[in-house]
Amino acid sequence: MSTLPRIGQWRSLDELRALQEKQLPHTLAQATRSPFYRARFGDTPPAFEDLAFTSKQDMRDQYPFGMLAVDKALLATYHESSGTSGQPTPSYYTANDWTDLAERYARKWIGISAEDTFLVRTPYALMITGHLAHAAARLHGATVVPGDNRSLAMPYSRVVRVLHDLEVTLSWSMPTETLLWAAAARAAGHKPGTDFPKLRALFVGGEPLSAARRARISEIWGVPVVEEYGSTETGSLAGECEHGRMHLWSDRAVFEVYDPLTGTVAPDGCGQLVVTPLYREAMPLLRYNLEDNVEVSYAECPCGWVLPSVRVLGRSAFGYPVGDGTVTQARLEDLVFELPSSYEVLFWRAKAEPDVLTVQIEVPDAHRAAAESALTEVIRRELAVNCQVTGVAPGTLVPSQVLTGIHDVVKPRSLFGADEDWDKALLYY
Ligand code: AMP
Ligand code: MG
Ligand code: ZN
Repeated sequence: MSTLPRIGQWRSLDELRALQEKQLPHTLAQATRSPFYRARFGDTPPAFEDLAFTSKQDMRDQYPFGMLAVDKALLATYHESSGTSGQPTPSYYTANDWTDLAERYARKWIGISAEDTFLVRTPYALMITGHLAHAAARLHGATVVPGDNRSLAMPYSRVVRVLHDLEVTLSWSMPTETLLWAAAARAAGHKPGTDFPKLRALFVGGEPLSAARRARISEIWGVPVVEEYGSTETGSLAGECEHGRMHLWSDRAVFEVYDPLTGTVAPDGCGQLVVTPLYREAMPLLRYNLEDNVEVSYAECPCGWVLPSVRVLGRSAFGYPVGDGTVTQARLEDLVFELPSSYEVLFWRAKAEPDVLTVQIEVPDAHRAAAESALTEVIRRELAVNCQVTGVAPGTLVPSQVLTGIHDVVKPRSLFGADEDWDKALLYY
């Protein structure tokens, strides 16, 4: 495998493109080793611009190993992504692929070092996300605390305990998780902003994050929020610089933007992100359409990284009609988190009905009336839709049991004493 480029190894977009063009023939050659691409174009791939897109459906159709381009013994890990379609979307990586994956994840403006205690709070089962952060943290010598958010062994009360007692310095989770931790920390008698003094940053990704929610999370914990964009099929695609922009790792992949309405492909603008990872061994992907709605820009950034930046719009940009207006999660999220922080609103939900937007916010009694009227007014003004905003008691949307409960995870057992509950046999969680 060729040496992986490092940030700073190129100074201009021309140098970056030269780097891509040098690697692309190797990428295409590796793809010819995969049965899927061999069936498409045999031993001679067409010119890059003439390559058909690879779709998510192609990957599902090739389940499990139709895209395997190496001897199976070389595989290090096998993954599936979080999709809800029921059809698995497989991806697999060699040890060399893992070097590329871990390095890309670690390219954030707040670096990971041996001094760090790093809480991984994304899934380890099948998906790549937990393993990705774990590998990146290990690569930089940090102490990893594996805290899978889907494991019964790690309820929120335990997350708060390890954040506090182990003096966690960095964490990796979805943005929503950090709000759940804040509520759980308060339920345990801690103040998120002051009782976790060693915390340096919250690494987040995996779901859309509006500017206001991000600012609120940062305010609550008193540390920077550092965002990341990626997927199980590709690993990290973009990471944030100190100026708050997410930069695409264009030295490790070719990015294109596809407009499904016009059928055109461009290097930038709005549309679906199409990615060609340049350094993959196990599962080459050529012009893979991630089907994520994004906006890519080549505008210069003061950080000096000569890399395009990306805004991920995703499902949060989907418009739900209400009366004559349209509501998106992104806009609504901004309005909720633009409420004064003294109202203590962390959790909300909304339903777009044909002629009314029904919104519920969790809010303590003392701020209920003020929060309801402030949000009602701003939704009417900004979104021009009819709305019904109701403040509900904390614990309504996120039950307090979820924040404070402890789940016993024990070992399986078959023999019980006369006074014990033998309904606990075998099913040990
Ligand atoms: P998965 O493949 O299951 O790991 O999930 C990857 C998907 O999560 C991406 O294709 C995006 O739709 C979404 N995603 C990941 N990171 C972000 C982000 N920073 N902002 C918005 N959506 C994201
Ligand atoms: Mg193996
Ligand atoms: Zn930048």
